[in-house]
Amino acid sequence: RSKAEGRGRYRFFEQKMDEQMQARRAIELDLRQALALQEFELAYQPQVDLATQEVVGFEALLRWRHATRGLVSPLEFIPVAEETGLIGAIGEWVLRTACRDAVQWPEAITVGVNLSPLQFRNPSLAQTVMSALASSGLAAERLELEITENALLEDTDTVLVLLKQLRDLGVRVSMDDFGTGYSSLAYLQKFPFDRLKIDQSFVRGMGANPEASAIVRAVAALGASLGIKTTAEGVETEEQLAAIRNEGCTHVQGYFTGRPMALADARALLVQPRKVAAIVEEHGL
Ligand code: C2E
Ligand code: MG
Ligand code: MG
Ligand code: MG
Repeated sequence: RSKAEGRGRYRFFEQKMDEQMQARRAIELDLRQALALQEFELAYQPQVDLATQEVVGFEALLRWRHATRGLVSPLEFIPVAEETGLIGAIGEWVLRTACRDAVQWPEAITVGVNLSPLQFRNPSLAQTVMSALASSGLAAERLELEITENALLEDTDTVLVLLKQLRDLGVRVSMDDFGTGYSSLAYLQKFPFDRLKIDQSFVRGMGANPEASAIVRAVAALGASLGIKTTAEGVETEEQLAAIRNEGCTHVQGYFTGRPMALADARALLVQPRKVAAIVEEHGL
């Protein structure tokens, strides 16, 4: 290959990277105004108890309704929010909004809120959570904070102190995307999580490879012997639902039992009989 060709190739990659950086920069600029412009909203995805087949909670999932871009995925803008430090303000908005929404649901219904690893570096996290509970009037035990394993990687002692402060407030803490990060088993020994959320990659793999089923079964058994709940994420089909039930998971959250939906639809769901069959009929695939 000629040198000129190599240079051309290099320039092509350089240009691509430039475009990516510009796209990121554009997101960053818009993200700085998104809170003020009230462009964020929360979608709520039902969480179903397999024993009763009832909706027992919802996970709050952040959505960005951008004026020209349309709906932007959190997978796209949360990393930018983290890099720029905007995640602090955005995360607090999510927390306060989710508490304010959930306080209007029937008393047994919980709300899950995702926390960025960066929020775990902020020593005033527990204070922010306490303030969100107090100003909304939501009972602490109805708030379930979701933490990914990667948040736990940071600085073990600091994170443990924060986790214990949260626990003292009475909120629930679950480990999100369980099985995809590091150090999770060590953490289970150090802190009593309330729930393990089994990552959807394992659920997706169940049909095709027996290893995935074995892992789901093992995590469900681990949860059972620790006396904590296990939620299978990303269940999209009736077969997957049967499989995760068979492996002993206690809860399910996935498109099959309900897609993330607007607050009004979540509310409507709660006034109907809360059986999985009804959910599947109305919101399932
Ligand atoms: P997550 O916390 O693991 O949330 C579950 C994700 O899986 C959601 O994607 C949900 O829409 C999707 N999902 C649920 N059921 C199914 C299914 O059956 N099939 C498939 N294919 N997907 C399913 P979403 O809403 O795009 O969020 C992606 C991630 O962004 C979340 O993963 C979470 O890590 C992060 N995120 C969302 N909201 C927030 C937030 O308020 N704060 C922070 N820090 N992160 C958030
Ligand atoms: Mg989550
Ligand atoms: Mg997850
Ligand atoms: Mg995830």
